[in-house]
Amino acid sequence: MQVVRTRAELRAALAASPRPVGLVPTMGWLHAGHVSLAERARSESATVVMSVFVNPRQFGEARDYELYPRNEARDLATAEAAGVDLVFAPGVDEVYPPGFDTVVSVGAIARPLEGAARPGHFAGVATVVAILFALVGAERAYFGLKDYQQVAVIRRMALDLALPTQVVPCPTVREPDGLALSSRNARLSADGRARAAVLHRALAAGAALARSGERSAEAVRAAVRAVLAGEPAAETEYVSAADPDTLAELEAIGGPVLLSLAARVEGVRLIDNELLTG
Ligand code: AMP
Repeated sequence: MQVVRTRAELRAALAASPRPVGLVPTMGWLHAGHVSLAERARSESATVVMSVFVNPRQFGEARDYELYPRNEARDLATAEAAGVDLVFAPGVDEVYPPGFDTVVSVGAIARPLEGAARPGHFAGVATVVAILFALVGAERAYFGLKDYQQVAVIRRMALDLALPTQVVPCPTVREPDGLALSSRNARLSADGRARAAVLHRALAAGAALARSGERSAEAVRAAVRAVLAGEPAAETEYVSAADPDTLAELEAIGGPVLLSLAARVEGVRLIDNELLTG
């Protein structure tokens, strides 16, 4: 496995690499969710490229950016074990060189849910992903459905800007108690970590109600909120039952539903979702 830090080194390494190329963009602190993306990429690519870059432009709060966990030595060992060929681990100035002055403006799909809760977040995500797509020129790029709206935003961007990289969505990897793996889980105490399982339990309750035939989306949202409210350590930010294509909130359930939520546990912002295919 080769590790490169500059655009020039990346270009040179890619020129000598067989195609097709699969790209796995990450912010590091790698866990089994990232590994599952790398393994999927490995199974479909001659060369697997992983980027490890904590993107300052997608954080609203400087403190959240600073507190984001980092451990490059461990990440490199994990990436190598997952079959990655090339890691791109640039500094901030390599991604955003002096004079950088262009951002991707994301549309309606980026407005609700995470977009409403984190103004500017998806513009930051879309901008860094557009740069990574341009630098790597991969045939395919792999993203986790834990960040469902992120996948939708990036798909829309790739389509609208005619970017030649195909976006491949991958299933959410969970802990045995249902908690979605996330780098942010590392910031929880053992007690908070155990309590955070309420996010998945809440989604499961909403999903069970919808599957039982409940047609009121508000009743489903209320069922999710009620489970979250039963865990005093969880502060609910939003609960949504939305159209999986437009992400608009539903009134009546008559087809597929994206149940999603954001909540804070011990001040750590966690998200999760469940897609009900109807
Ligand atoms: P991050 O490092 O958090 O920016 O995530 C990098 C990629 O890994 C994104 O495409 C995420 O959606 C994906 N990812 C994060 N957590 C999980 C998970 N638990 N299961 C599957 N993919 C994940």
